[in-house]
Amino acid sequence: MADNIYISYPPPLTPEQEEYLVQTVKNWTIEHALTVRPSTAIVPKDINPNNVLATNAPVTLFPSPFPKACFEQARSLQKVYNELYATIASDEEWLEDILQELIKVDDFLANLWKIHLSVKEEGYVQDLSLGMFRSDYMLHTPGDSPPSLKQVEFNTISSSFGGLAVKVAKLHTHLATYPSVKRPLAYPSHPLFAHSDQTNSPSPSITTIGHPPPNDAVITLTASLAAAHEAYGPSKSRPQLPTCVIFLVQDDERNVFDQYALSSELWNQHKVPSFRLATSKILALTTIPSKDENPNRPLIYTPPSSPATQYEISVVYFRALYAPAEYDAPTSWAARHHIERSAAVKCPSILLHLSGSKKIQQVLTSLPPDTDHLKNFLPHYPESTLNSLRTTFAPQYSLSSPDPNIEPEGVRLALSPDSAANHVLKPQREGGGNNIYRDKIPSYLQSIPTSQWKQYVLMELIHPPTNAKNTVLRSDGQVVGGNVISELGIFGGCLYRSGNGSKKPEILHNSEGGYLLRTKGKDSDEGGVAAGFSSLDSIILY
Ligand code: ADP
Ligand code: MG
Ligand code: MG
Repeated sequence: MADNIYISYPPPLTPEQEEYLVQTVKNWTIEHALTVRPSTAIVPKDINPNNVLATNAPVTLFPSPFPKACFEQARSLQKVYNELYATIASDEEWLEDILQELIKVDDFLANLWKIHLSVKEEGYVQDLSLGMFRSDYMLHTPGDSPPSLKQVEFNTISSSFGGLAVKVAKLHTHLATYPSVKRPLAYPSHPLFAHSDQTNSPSPSITTIGHPPPNDAVITLTASLAAAHEAYGPSKSRPQLPTCVIFLVQDDERNVFDQYALSSELWNQHKVPSFRLATSKILALTTIPSKDENPNRPLIYTPPSSPATQYEISVVYFRALYAPAEYDAPTSWAARHHIERSAAVKCPSILLHLSGSKKIQQVLTSLPPDTDHLKNFLPHYPESTLNSLRTTFAPQYSLSSPDPNIEPEGVRLALSPDSAANHVLKPQREGGGNNIYRDKIPSYLQSIPTSQWKQYVLMELIHPPTNAKNTVLRSDGQVVGGNVISELGIFGGCLYRSGNGSKKPEILHNSEGGYLLRTKGKDSDEGGVAAGFSSLDSIILY
């Protein structure tokens, strides 16, 4: 089944069927806000001067088959991964040890670390941190071996697309379960689908529920925001102020409806109010009282729409400030520092942001008999759980060595064209579009000073199935079909308290739920949806 699943999938469509399906998807996406603001490449600014238009997010017409065992393994590991990263972020000494050599050559990491040191010196007034995580995986099928799950990366900041992923699962479920007799042109019959007139007759070899599994990403992510809001407790201001969550967003954010899915649920289910704050407005719209006025450093928000009603910010949820290019104003770093020193719970705190560095992920892959970081960080988990987690690691290598006379293995593998061909070179960056692949690695490294090499990690390429197919409706309306590669993300939330004289965090809330599948053309190396490489997809388990 694993090898042959794509032979008949997705079911072929006549031109009339495809046209009908595309029309259905176009309308469904707008009806349910499975949408993005269009880029100016699609709709020039002079045609849309007030930014009122929205278009469908890029979506696949069909869900992509995904092995059930791999999906379940990814889910089962999420809470362990959440705890691992909360623990790393609570161990400042370990983090510093790893990051210090990068800080010397990477201004972005250096600035983040400087903020941490400055707030530490002044004294942190908030020991809670919130992680809203997404662990990303691909299926690894080298030489047609059965698929196994390999982690691409673990995101600790701005893990996006939970809001839209829920809607893609609903869209595909709608298309897979609609009665085919009444509406023959939703999806054609296929054993993987459960048209309501054939639910009892899928091929007996296929154990499937016939549609994507329910996607709880919005519930999971919103519940973790609500938990952090509640743990913040009552206002620390005198007189007391109402408390709220802040969604910290990019000024020109296009993925707004993904974020609205969370803020709406936060209000509807938890009655927690939230505001959107663009990064350029942080210093204009938020204040912290002086030490004499209030040593607790509450972060006060003044909504421009009603300046008479101030709010105290319980949680700052970063959907921005993860990339150097976002710190483009003279006050950008001051604004990040301002938030970090406040009493608001940060999602993420600077230390949690730094814990998501690719370098940390590379260091974690060092396995026994070398340092067993997993065992050190998670001593209370059974070896079988840690082993399951270890199996998700793809080999990764450092490009620096403690002994200058020994060439690091990463350098050897990166410089030889034969081995470079099976690797990707990653800088300490987020958001897609930053990696260097295969044969470009040796010449790239040779074009920069060797002193800079330690900014990168080298990772073995994951080899996903090569015969998967799907069709994408892009945001500009174009329909593109062909061979594809998918990346699964699993969402998790973790609220924890650091400090208390211990390196181990106190975990107050740890949850897993919801998934994202991003699907891209087989020949595209990069994977981000926002970066324009991928489309949103959902899964059909087999
Ligand atoms: P970012 O934080 O910028 O998203 P990633 O590590 O996720 O960085 O890399 C971006 C993309 O590069 C991924 O979405 C994936 O498509 C591709 N990629 C990264 N690592 C690997 C790998 N080891 N094998 C194959 N593709 C990879
Ligand atoms: Mg990332
Ligand atoms: Mg990524």
